Amino acid sequence: MGEKVSELDVLAIFSHPDDAELSVAGTLLKLKAQGYRTGVCDMTRGEMGTRGTPEIRAIEAEEAAAVLGLDARINLELPDGQIWLTEESRTAVVRVLRAHKPKVLLTTHWDDPHPDHAATSRIVREAARLATMKRYDAESGQPALKMPAIAHSLFSRRVVPSFIVDVSDFVEDKMRAIRAHSSQFYSAASVEPETRISQRNFLHEIEQRMNYFGSLIGVKAGEPFYVREALNVDDPVALLTRPMNIYS
Ligand SMILES: [Zn+2]
Repeated sequence: MGEKVSELDVLAIFSHPDDAELSVAGTLLKLKAQGYRTGVCDMTRGEMGTRGTPEIRAIEAEEAAAVLGLDARINLELPDGQIWLTEESRTAVVRVLRAHKPKVLLTTHWDDPHPDHAATSRIVREAARLATMKRYDAESGQPALKMPAIAHSLFSRRVVPSFIVDVSDFVEDKMRAIRAHSSQFYSAASVEPETRISQRNFLHEIEQRMNYFGSLIGVKAGEPFYVREALNVDDPVALLTRPMNIYS
């Protein structure tokens, strides 16, 4: 799947093979149901993880991709734990963007406490801009790209969401995609060392977070995003008369 080049509407770029599932799987499922072409690009194979191996994690990522109905799942195989804003990482992302031509990128927020996540956010922002410059990485032979829009998935309560996507109808499939990464999460049968995310309560916490962000827009489950640029709204009446929660 990784080698096949297909044009995408939306591409989620995250650091480790289960990050996109944990952060934006509900939104990817909803967009797929709306007819958009969706993809995930993982920056690393997650080889620094306490549990699993890169080979096991690659199989799990393909299983999760099938649950999400992704049109592409790409892995850049950058070193896990050492994602930096470098020429190598920028060029790698620019080539993916130019090959798949996404209109919208979903990624982490630059204020994320995990250094890989924060670096990925910055690499994505710079690569999206560089991909528009004809002479940048001209040796690849790929044409320049119209700059994709970037929506940052939020984890920190300190960043106020620009918008929240109602993913109420997609919670079960999101959790199924997360559980496809079975080496990483709770299993009564596992003999691997316990980590924060392998504890039984972690998946419950993910659902509670979705419920909390859903409550801010008056629905069962939501995924929050931050957009740095001003949003260009065509019909403010249509936008502002959608259900909201005055206690958000
Ligand atoms: Zn991660």
